[in-house]
Amino acid sequence: MPGFELFGADERKEVNDVLETGILMRYGFDAARKGIWKSIDLENAIKERFQTPHAQLVSSGTAALTTAMAALGIGYGDEIIMPAFTFVASFEAVVSVGAIPVLVDIDNSLTLDPIAVKNAITPKTKAIMPVHMCGSMADLDALQTICKEHNLLLLEDACQAIGGTYKGKPLGSIGDAGTFSFDFVKTMTCGEGGVVMTKHADVYAKADQYSDHGHDHAGKDRGADLHPYIGYNFRISELHAAVGLAQIKRLDSFLALQKRNHQIIKEALQRIPEITFRVLPDEAGDSCSFISFFLPSEALTQKVVAAFAAQGIAGNFYWYSNNWHYISKWDHLKNAAFMNHLHPDHKAQIIHHATKSFAQSDAIMSRCISSAISIGWTEEQVKERASAMANAIKSVLQSN
Ligand SMILES: *Cc1c(COP(=O)(O)O)cnc(C)c1O
Repeated sequence: MPGFELFGADERKEVNDVLETGILMRYGFDAARKGIWKSIDLENAIKERFQTPHAQLVSSGTAALTTAMAALGIGYGDEIIMPAFTFVASFEAVVSVGAIPVLVDIDNSLTLDPIAVKNAITPKTKAIMPVHMCGSMADLDALQTICKEHNLLLLEDACQAIGGTYKGKPLGSIGDAGTFSFDFVKTMTCGEGGVVMTKHADVYAKADQYSDHGHDHAGKDRGADLHPYIGYNFRISELHAAVGLAQIKRLDSFLALQKRNHQIIKEALQRIPEITFRVLPDEAGDSCSFISFFLPSEALTQKVVAAFAAQGIAGNFYWYSNNWHYISKWDHLKNAAFMNHLHPDHKAQIIHHATKSFAQSDAIMSRCISSAISIGWTEEQVKERASAMANAIKSVLQSN
């Protein structure tokens, strides 16, 4: 899964280009930087690789989501429909712009259930935010149809799905805007970083301004920039962009390793009739950063999780009881535990949507295990792991 596993000479070389000039900032210092513009190079590489007309690098995936929301005009009182299974950053970004995260159930794809989305639409709904969890995609055709019918924005949180596609199009490039995270454990990394991708020139222009204090970046002199809007500092540094530039050039080799390793494990697990796999709306587009599968019951799933742990088979995630990724453990959201004061109506709406029942998601997540696919494994190591996993599962099933 993570690009950091293969950090090496290419990354060091790109970082060193920046260290040679000492210009660590992405804007300005034109003469001193001697033609080294790693952030611009990485944005251009992203536009080409992910078939998107515009890309704005920022300091993290969370900053990318926040910036995308501001640039799309999402704010006060707007309802954003998003899944109950995601990383906490997705709702952090929603609340940070004053909007309301309307959490809804997932289906067997581990992403937004289009029926649950439809049922959650109100006159205040502004956007649908699918999260392409664990490397694979939401049913984007169904969600786009709903967006068209109800005149809603589509914002893809593709932070976990770098390199995945849907019907041939890169995830993150399909909605009104899409985001990647380049944090340390993502498929390609900058150390920390993220990107907003969009097909709309005006959304891009706003993302560019928002992430740099509202600077209009219209002229050569940063000091003379005007500020059409209030922005923040979500800039990426040249050092981080340099790491990403090396990684994007290697991304296709990372993805090929992921696919190979994923396939070996899938073949082994497929021979166990009790195991079913997550539904993939477009199997060919799976980035294969995880393999996610279901056991017949919650009790059996917990036994398999325990058996993996007992046998030292690492890298398996039981999201159902995981603090970061599933509604069941988000007490801070359910209690609206903000450090700063929110408008009482905003707070009440957040609590209302976080404390609903998610029985359908519970029934799915309580039987789901996701196993991270390393790109550092040799073929021999994957085969050993695949048979160790299969044997552990079989012994749990046989003793029941
Ligand atoms: C990693 C991640 C983010 C946030 O990225 P950071 O770069 O860590 O801020 C957002 N959404 C999802 C689904 C993620 O996995």
